[in-house]
Amino acid sequence: MTAFEGVLFDGVRAAGLPVQVEAQGDDVLIADALDPPRRIARDQISADAPIPGVPRLLRLPGGALIETGAHDAVASVWPPKDIIARAAFAIESRWWAVLTGLALTAGSVWLIVAFALPLAAEPVSRRISPKVEAFMGKQTLAFLDRTILSPSTLTDEETDKRQNAFAEFVNGEDAQSYWLEFRHAGTPNALALPGGIIIVTDEMVRATANDAEFLAVVAHEIGHVRGHHAMRLVLQDSGLAVLMTALAGDAVGTTVLAAALPAVLLRTRYSRQFESEADDYAFAMLKRHGQSPQAFADLLRRLRLSEHETGDSHSLRQYLSTHPATEERIQRAEEQR
Ligand SMILES: [Zn+2]
Repeated sequence: MTAFEGVLFDGVRAAGLPVQVEAQGDDVLIADALDPPRRIARDQISADAPIPGVPRLLRLPGGALIETGAHDAVASVWPPKDIIARAAFAIESRWWAVLTGLALTAGSVWLIVAFALPLAAEPVSRRISPKVEAFMGKQTLAFLDRTILSPSTLTDEETDKRQNAFAEFVNGEDAQSYWLEFRHAGTPNALALPGGIIIVTDEMVRATANDAEFLAVVAHEIGHVRGHHAMRLVLQDSGLAVLMTALAGDAVGTTVLAAALPAVLLRTRYSRQFESEADDYAFAMLKRHGQSPQAFADLLRRLRLSEHETGDSHSLRQYLSTHPATEERIQRAEEQR
């Protein structure tokens, strides 16, 4: 049996607490004047490497420390051979960590920005909860309503007809629920927000010649929702820290993303890859519902003719600036009919 005196620093009390430490077989008993004695397994406590003339430090599970001048007692309970070996190992592994860390930091910041962010945005966007997506969608709609959108001027008859066609179109499609919102914006446009909100402007409704063209526009926007494109755009734009907090479900990360989304949507266009993905989804969905993707090609052609005349180039007010009516897209639609 070995017993010695020490001072306990538990991180709670400002001053150290004098303790009596007693080794009993595989256990260590720690007693002080205030609390009942604590029993801790001896191998759960580690002793720092001995330095001549400096008190020994014992590290307890949970982070508390005991400082003691009883060098011989500590050496007999925690034999020095192990400690030196362990200390050497710890130093070695720390060196590796330091070197690896330096190499990573120096060489890889641009790699993270250029490759990891876009790659991480996709899996992260799929792991963001539907609740968070719905919240962000509503926030963004409220922002757009305060800025560039105004209430719809369509008649009830016009909206009811489209709402009915829409409800039938999305019914049983997937677990995601969709909302259709009509707004006045000055030019034909449509956009999708996280959580399944699809905004179609009055002008777009009037630009479509029939239900098939209207559903083609809607199907393309559903493709953006399905691909989490708005979410991916804002995640890519917001940096690694936000990406990681969003992944962890952190409330701060979510709030930052929700605040950034409207600006990102207004400023940034979807990549060609996102547009192609949304087109592909739309063509397949239209065909599942017995509609021809030809309707999409027809609409793009007509919009191209009419929008050239207005000359409005604001990215969110101009459908074709975010959805270029390129020959390639029109041809792909026509090949799918
Ligand atoms: Zn699009």
